[in-house]
Amino acid sequence: MRSGRLAHHARVRVAGGRARGVVGLAEVGAGRERGQDALLRVELDLDEVIFGTHRDLEVDTAILCDTCQGSCAAPGTSAVTCDICKGSGNIQRAVRSLLGNVMTSSPCGTCRGYGTTIPHPCPTCQGQGRVRARRTISVDIPAGVDTGLRLQMPSQGEVGPAGGPNGDLYLEMKVKHHDVFSRNGDDLLATLELQMTDAILGTQTLLKTLDGEVTLDIRPGTQSAEVITIKERGITRLRGIGRGDLKVGVQVVTPTKLNHKEQELIKQFAASHKQQQPSLTHFQQGLFQKLRDRFLNL
Ligand SMILES: [Zn+2]
Ligand SMILES: [Zn+2]
Repeated sequence: MRSGRLAHHARVRVAGGRARGVVGLAEVGAGRERGQDALLRVELDLDEVIFGTHRDLEVDTAILCDTCQGSCAAPGTSAVTCDICKGSGNIQRAVRSLLGNVMTSSPCGTCRGYGTTIPHPCPTCQGQGRVRARRTISVDIPAGVDTGLRLQMPSQGEVGPAGGPNGDLYLEMKVKHHDVFSRNGDDLLATLELQMTDAILGTQTLLKTLDGEVTLDIRPGTQSAEVITIKERGITRLRGIGRGDLKVGVQVVTPTKLNHKEQELIKQFAASHKQQQPSLTHFQQGLFQKLRDRFLNL
């Protein structure tokens, strides 16, 4: 992590559950302040979620100062042991109390607990050990993420003051609305508007899915609200293996504008076909609620 101009190919893990931010803390001396965590929102199209995608993200962050490498001291100089606390970072003080003299310890005000002072602060970072910079982070976003999910990128947040350990970077996912396909877990849902004659006679049709074309056989006598499942054409699972399914709900479209000849043909058909009387059955909730609402609003 030397320069803001280098792209970093960073590891990603899905946040949640486990204790976070423990990576790398153990080997860093206690008392060194950790950098802040950062949160970035990432917008994705639904088709990017199917197989996962790649992003180069620009982050405004704090990086280690190139001039002093986090030592905070100007080149050629170094930090010196604090005169006041003799390098311990703490001030011991005897306080008189009813029980006699009690020793108390508090952080040294001169060196702010570091144990060293910087007589000649680094001019680049004004003795902070870090500078603001825009970094490009290269990240592979796994398949199957959904809105609200946070990916944790350990140690990709701000560097701490005086070369302290990095915070973590969190990427919060937002999957954009798609006009055709919606999502139910790892399944994709869509509606297929089917002409009445195709529903009666059956047909073969080419569906344009988010990852290519699929040939779909419509069997003769297909009904409205039937759901046709196309296996393994949904979203690649974030946890586990394989893909969800693509579920296509059929909406049979009744022709509204018939010319005289067509009307005659339909009448002939009705006369030769033994028709059932219209009959009541239960109201069908679910997948077609939205579509029905749309029709009602026309
Ligand atoms: Zn510096
Ligand atoms: Zn001190």
